[in-house]
This record gives sequence, structure tokens and C-alpha cells, in this order.
Amino acid sequence: MKTIVVLVVLIFFQVCVITNKLYAQEKASILLVTSNRKVPSSGFYELFALIDGIDAIEMKQPQANEFIQNGDVDQYALIVFYDLNDSITELQKDAYWDLLEKGKPMLFLHHTLVSYQKWPNFINIIGGRYNRQHPILGPSAYIHDYKLNLTVSNKKHPITMDLDCFSIIGEAYNNCEILPEVTPLLICEDSHNMPYAAWIHRVKNAEVVYIQNGHDDKVFTNSHYKKLIKQAVLYLILRSKK
Ligand SMILES: [Zn+2]
Repeated sequence: MKTIVVLVVLIFFQVCVITNKLYAQEKASILLVTSNRKVPSSGFYELFALIDGIDAIEMKQPQANEFIQNGDVDQYALIVFYDLNDSITELQKDAYWDLLEKGKPMLFLHHTLVSYQKWPNFINIIGGRYNRQHPILGPSAYIHDYKLNLTVSNKKHPITMDLDCFSIIGEAYNNCEILPEVTPLLICEDSHNMPYAAWIHRVKNAEVVYIQNGHDDKVFTNSHYKKLIKQAVLYLILRSKK
């Protein structure tokens, strides 16, 4: 009798191990690219921990751009950028374009709009630019802890589905460039903010999303924002060619 009990326990344990392995294999891996400039607050990580079916792995710059260049990033279904970075080589720039050619989706958040001020073509990837300086437009501007009223432009899009118009205490960005070909997801009619607070566009064979908000935990704990990020991540993973 004792032997049977031991056997049953062992079989149960084996089944649990196999089930866990299978479950783990089904999870989509996403890469969170961060930097020591503008380190994310704890709420940032919780955003991704709360999404079932994904494993989020963080990598800081400049290692992340080396990782992108050497092709190891292929195993990830989605790259989420929360870095504020200026350092990039020509080979690394080419690697970004190669990934987009292969259909790798990218999600850019908040201050990534300020990255790569000396890489003119970066605007064609992210869809816009916060200019520290601009000879004609002048510098872009920001206001911290500003109440932004956001309107969902298309409630049928999977990223904004079931999201109502909402307010968020975040960081206003203004006088930024936005490419005319992007499709807005969130609109802001406040004259102290740029007109789109989130957009999507197609770059080569990939879908690229930019979401303006994401300064700190006041944003990361906003239930509408959590839903927006979750829906953007799940949508982009499904669009991944990998
Ligand atoms: Zn910020």
C-alpha cells in the first residue's frame, strides 16, 4: 500500500513538472529594453507581470543594442523600449531595420520619443520625435504631473477596445514632430500636449506602437493605462511573425 502511495505521489509530481514545462514553453518572451538614464519605477515591471502568457526579460542599454545587432533578439516575440538612449552604431541601426523587415513588432513608451537625437531616421521607426533642439520648430517641451484628458480614437481597434476616454496624471509633451502617416490610437485636445498620445504605424513588415505616457507609478497604476499596455502587448505579440 505504501509503495502505491509513493508511486501515485511520484506520478503526480512528474505530471506537474511536465505541465509546468509545457505552460512555460507556451509563454511568449518579450524583451524590456531600459537604460540607467530614466530607470523605471516598480510599477513599470508590475504592468508586465500582470499579463498572463508572457515572460518579460529586462535588458539595459548599451547591451540591448549589442543584443539586437547580434540577432539574439529574434527569440523574443516583442521588443518593448523604455530606454532613453543616444548611443548607437551604424550596424546597430541596420539591425533595427532588419528586425522590422522580418516583421518584429516594437512598442515604444514615453521618453523613447527623446532617444537618438542624432539619428534622423529614427523618427521613421517610432513615428515621431521630441526635439531637444530644432532649427525651425524650436525645442519640444514637457510639463510634469499634468492632467491629460485622452480620447480613444477607435474603440474597435484591439489595442483600444473597451477603453473609454480617460484622464491620467502624466507628463505632457508638446511641440513634437509626428509623422502624418501614423494612425492615432489616443487623441489629446489639450493645447499643452501633442495631438496624439498614442499611435500605431507599419514600418516595413512590422507594426510599431508608441504610447506617450509612462513617467512614473502615477501612470503605471492607472487602470486604463494598464489595460492599454496589456492590449498593446497582446496585440503586437499576435502580429509577430515569430
Ligand atoms: Zn518622463
